[in-house]
Amino acid sequence: MNTHGFELIFERKVPEINSLARLWKHKKSGAELLSLQNSDENKVFGVTFRTPPKDSTGVPHILEHSVLCGSKKYPVKEPFVELLKGSLQTFLNAFTYPDKTCYPVASTNLADFYNLVDVYLDAVFYPRISEDIFKQEGWHLEVDEKTKDLSYKGVVYNEMKGVFSSPDSLLSRQAQQALFPDTPYGVESGGDPENIPDLTYKQFKEFHESYYHPSNARFYFWGDDNEDKRLELLDNLLKEFNIQSVDSHIPLQKHFKTPRLIESSYAVEPDNADNNKAFVSMNWLLANTSNLELNFALRMLEHILLGLPASPLRKALLESGLGEDVIDDGLETELRQLCFSVGLKGIDPNKASEVELLIMDTLAELAEEGINTQAIEAAFNTIEFSLREKNTGRFPVGLAVMLQSLTNWLYDQDPLAPLEYEQHLNKIKQKLNSDPRYFEGLIKEYFLENNHYATVLLLPDTEYLKRVQEKEEKRLKKIAEKLKSQDLEKVAKDAEHLKILQETPDNEADLAKIPRLSVADLPLKNKEIVIQSQNDSNIELYFHPQPSSGIVYLNIAFKLNGVKAEQIPLLTILGRALTEMGTKKRSFLDFNLDIASKTGGINAGASFFTNLNNKAQQPYFIVSGKATLTHVKELYALIEELLTEPNFDDAELLGRMLLEEKAKEEHSLIPSGHIAVLNRVKAGLSTQGWLEDQASGLSYLFKLRQMTNNNPTSLVNSLKELLQTILKTPGMAINITAEAEQKDKLTTITREFIANLPKTKQNLTLDNWTSEQLPTQEALLVPAQVNYVAKGFDLFKLGYKYHGSMQVILKHLRTSWLWEKVRVQGGAYGAFCTFDRANGVFAQASYRDPNVPNTINVFDASAEYLASLKLSQDDLAKSIIGAIGELDTYLLPDAKGYSSFIRTLTGDNNSLRQQMRDEILSTTSKDFNALGEIMKSVKTSHTVALGGEEVKKLATAQNWIQTKVL
Ligand SMILES: [Zn+2]
Repeated sequence: MNTHGFELIFERKVPEINSLARLWKHKKSGAELLSLQNSDENKVFGVTFRTPPKDSTGVPHILEHSVLCGSKKYPVKEPFVELLKGSLQTFLNAFTYPDKTCYPVASTNLADFYNLVDVYLDAVFYPRISEDIFKQEGWHLEVDEKTKDLSYKGVVYNEMKGVFSSPDSLLSRQAQQALFPDTPYGVESGGDPENIPDLTYKQFKEFHESYYHPSNARFYFWGDDNEDKRLELLDNLLKEFNIQSVDSHIPLQKHFKTPRLIESSYAVEPDNADNNKAFVSMNWLLANTSNLELNFALRMLEHILLGLPASPLRKALLESGLGEDVIDDGLETELRQLCFSVGLKGIDPNKASEVELLIMDTLAELAEEGINTQAIEAAFNTIEFSLREKNTGRFPVGLAVMLQSLTNWLYDQDPLAPLEYEQHLNKIKQKLNSDPRYFEGLIKEYFLENNHYATVLLLPDTEYLKRVQEKEEKRLKKIAEKLKSQDLEKVAKDAEHLKILQETPDNEADLAKIPRLSVADLPLKNKEIVIQSQNDSNIELYFHPQPSSGIVYLNIAFKLNGVKAEQIPLLTILGRALTEMGTKKRSFLDFNLDIASKTGGINAGASFFTNLNNKAQQPYFIVSGKATLTHVKELYALIEELLTEPNFDDAELLGRMLLEEKAKEEHSLIPSGHIAVLNRVKAGLSTQGWLEDQASGLSYLFKLRQMTNNNPTSLVNSLKELLQTILKTPGMAINITAEAEQKDKLTTITREFIANLPKTKQNLTLDNWTSEQLPTQEALLVPAQVNYVAKGFDLFKLGYKYHGSMQVILKHLRTSWLWEKVRVQGGAYGAFCTFDRANGVFAQASYRDPNVPNTINVFDASAEYLASLKLSQDDLAKSIIGAIGELDTYLLPDAKGYSSFIRTLTGDNNSLRQQMRDEILSTTSKDFNALGEIMKSVKTSHTVALGGEEVKKLATAQNWIQTKVL
């Protein structure tokens, strides 16, 4: 066999991931390759470099962005975006970690997969990282034309300002740096906005030269593609390089003898009622990550301490009344040494030491009095279940495996050992057999008797933003003073030059070099998901046969007939109360442990849909659960118990749950501001959007704030009443996704379950919930340096009829127009657009946006852009391929079953979906123009911005409604 310049280091079968694994070393270049062969069609490739930073200038992060801005073979501005536009990728991105930079791609289409690999390899080894690219992605100065004031600009600079606006993110960054002061983990690999402008182009270039070398690279392949081809294509690249010694060693942090206390601050508004809220976390350095038995045991200990609402550490923190929400970061397994974080948000700053004491006392008590044996069983089951299920959602399984492998491989250890979990679990079982107090021992050794810990206190600071701004202004003033007028002119000229570069389109011939499929290569037919249905006594039963690793997935959907508008916000709370508060038979602790030791989890909540054909609202309360076939009866029994014998009577527990919900909603607002503004726009434009806002959006948060001020006792009855209404409504639908041969057995069990539910049904009709008028222009004010904006309108009102070309147009707008105008030129981290086929709402939104008024102008100009667009055949083809890629998106078995279930309920049938595909494939440039013309006639639209000072200024100038949300 020709091994293409590689030598085999070892090969092993890894049954846990159904793969044959080979570790190869490329003789000439010194590169390592982990090659995993299996039957997964979702093929993954990745290349990872060890990139330990020496300071907080963010050089690894800026480089990660920059190498994707053109390369030797592909000299265009953004090959990455060209791939996003016109490939069938199921994953395409890059990540900067505290000690590594990863470039992964994935696709289910072989030719497409090779194209992605080819572009990525050229990008990382032969990037055109010019000074202009450094300025664009990193930082540069701009001069205000009128005031002559200087300011910093740059993609990463702006991105990190956003990251630093979130107290949660500040807290975990401070904690990591406090635990690892003597290693690369002691600095900020993403870049601290304060330090980013210290980075020079020379240092940036040198960082690439020293670390982006094959001798410092780890290559990875996963899936059903040919191994020989993997070696061959890598050899073609690697034979140009000679082995080189690269010093990228990640040192171990020495344990300290005395604990540390770090005090820091975060921004709050001066007149905010929540001014006294601080964050506190305790963080321990534990063992080396490569000690896998301990690593897995500590994952179990994490579950024992924090995994469930009733877990002792979580419960103690919540019940103490000292704060609003638990900081449950728990075990960090992606660094060379394991660490553990826990704490509380929303505390009185003077009570931080009480929180610390409570954590230590709870741990001491557990070590002393022993851990509940069922809690250990629950931890084992939960960890085993998730290892077996490998439910990575939209994230390719092969990529999750690569990241797991790197937790050992990156530090020159066996890449397969973290994947071979059976042996580690067995060893832990043996240990536990010989020493029933094994976990108590771990608490003692790694927490109680371990002085390497840091307490991080994050205090609210009304002057924070002002201080940061003043510091930056001072720095810029100093620079301005030093600059002579001709220098100032040069700054302006350089910025202008950068702008021109960004606005100049790529050369057509260069663009054509990027390899891609042609429209003719795309399959003409949709891949249909097999569904089998039965309908008896008003219950629709669906079965989806899927290769599910023996796991059964269950969704039980109740109609919401008879539910009143004011009850909508209670649905989310009902979902939590049902699954977390225990039942008449069992305490909240026992019930939670039972769920965790027998199932893969149960959850419940409302979902809102609109029927595609008759446009009727179709809201459901859906209870979902999963278990292995051996436990499926118990899964049904638990669901039956929570539905028929729930116990909502513990008003105190309910009150804590409300506080926790409120804190969760509040803390997610700034990091997910783009979702908040988009959903608020939809809330103003469609009933479904309004319902979603009531159930889980801003209106839900407002309702939670009211409820937390009231006595929760009245809520007990409201929840009981709501559950009765839901259970009495006829027309339930049940969906099962499992291995084909389990169908008959599961149908029998399901019938028994149905027979046990309350029989008395009432004929309630669906409320016609007329949504209230929301403001057409709204500013959501938060104390942050980061802004988001969304704007939308109802296209159906303008006479638009849905056509599949919409998917192609959305793809094009996102990756061309909005990308260039809002991201590249506007400096926002991102921008996107969506269309709701059922409700007709077209919306555009931006993400971490430094220039909201400009973005709104771009959104408005989209109509004219589309109307007058003369799209080249090439650009059209790219957008068609990209749209098909989205339509054929790769789903894991449970997601296939669930989406097919929802499509069936809402009338999104196979013939409609095939029509959509046909229309996508036959889209022409005229479709773009026609949509543009319709959009030009928009009269009423909704605009919502979320942010700080800038948004406030805009809102005041333009007379928007201002709502203070934080
Ligand atoms: Zn980034």
